[in-house]
Amino acid sequence: MENNEKILQILKKRFGFDKFRPGQKETIDALLAGKDALTVLPTGAGKSLLYQLPAYLISGTVVIVSPLLSLMQDQVDRLHRQGEKRVIMLSGQIIGRERANILRNLKSFKFVFASPEMLDNQNVLEALKNINVDLLVIDEAHCISQWGPDFRPEYLLLKNIRQQLGKPATLMLTATATPRIRQDILAKLGIITAQQIIRPVDRPNIFLAVQQKTTQKEKDEELLQLVRKFDGPGIIYFASRKLASQMAEWLSSQTDLNVAAYHAGVATIERFRIQNQFMNNELQVICATSAFGMGIDKNDVRYVIHYHLPSNLENYLQEIGRAGRDGKQSLAVLLYANGDEMIQRQLTSIDIPPASLLQQIKDDKISSTILGDQGALFEFYLNHQSTPEQIITMFNQRKSQTEEELQRMLGYIKADSCRRKYLLNYFGE
Ligand code: ADP
Ligand code: MG
Repeated sequence: MENNEKILQILKKRFGFDKFRPGQKETIDALLAGKDALTVLPTGAGKSLLYQLPAYLISGTVVIVSPLLSLMQDQVDRLHRQGEKRVIMLSGQIIGRERANILRNLKSFKFVFASPEMLDNQNVLEALKNINVDLLVIDEAHCISQWGPDFRPEYLLLKNIRQQLGKPATLMLTATATPRIRQDILAKLGIITAQQIIRPVDRPNIFLAVQQKTTQKEKDEELLQLVRKFDGPGIIYFASRKLASQMAEWLSSQTDLNVAAYHAGVATIERFRIQNQFMNNELQVICATSAFGMGIDKNDVRYVIHYHLPSNLENYLQEIGRAGRDGKQSLAVLLYANGDEMIQRQLTSIDIPPASLLQQIKDDKISSTILGDQGALFEFYLNHQSTPEQIITMFNQRKSQTEEELQRMLGYIKADSCRRKYLLNYFGE
């Protein structure tokens, strides 16, 4: 049978779809031709199909790397519902004999889900080397880029893991990627050429606005007015957890809306509950930090307000992109008071320790906890590749890059020409 016909037949029989959505066929063709592919499609566009369908046309196993257990579990459940039983998720919860058994029988699975740390485990990697991994999928691939909104240093392990697996065809998936992040994804994986399948970032149904105020108090009043005026579910982003919580309470007291705060300081079970209530329209407004978003698939969010400016345009676009996924008219409003950028500078500032201190940590003479919150990050780099001098150079570059990005964000706020043009121009469109 002609390959195209076969693909369409699987699409219909396995997945129940009559036709491909934009970007899907191109990606699948590239992978089946043995090429690496970097595909950038918005959330909800159908990225899972890009590896699920080819899985039935290759003989070996598909390994899917994902940054969050909840995202993996969701994929596993969906495959089960599609009647696919040959699925395993390698998690920290599976240990001892159970894990040994799974690893011994790894060949019997078509889909293997794992975090990067899990793949870095020697036993796991050996087991994978003994079977045919024909497709490596890196979900949320922007996590590998230090310029990405959700940087995960563990993703840097993937270059070596991919090499050890014999460089199987690799599919990198993300919903956010500027030209710079795209280049960085490839560089960090050691991939020189890949087919890039990219859909436009423009979202014509999201109206863009900026409100400049002089004081925080004026901003609060403006926020209250907007929330009273707008209909439908909305998300308000804050740069700090504390303020997200405070403002959620304040908005609750000032309106008859149901408002909740969502950030990394809220207990996991509570976050889960809030997420569900928002999905079910029991909550109208979420006051969130950037922790709210990845994996959230609500298509009728009518507005996204930024109480604080994000640290860069990538994050801004990602966050406002959660509005209007149903294609209906939606709003993105950015509130700005003089000096707000100082908050971002504080948040993104990293104290770079002297080389001698890093060397002592590397030699296990001092604990990395001396560096506070950043300790784990520096320790990761020390353990995984770099000399103290290289690390310092890298963080210095990062510092100046961060400031440049903030300036571009301010450029957007102060732009007196069309803001959409400014954004599209930045994203190379
Ligand atoms: P993403 O990972 O890009 O956010 P998903 O893979 O979760 O998107 O898919 C979103 C939804 O789109 C799913 O419900 C999926 O079944 C559906 N979908 C995917 N491809 C198609 C298609 N070709 N036709 C119709 N629906 C599709
Ligand atoms: Mg997805």
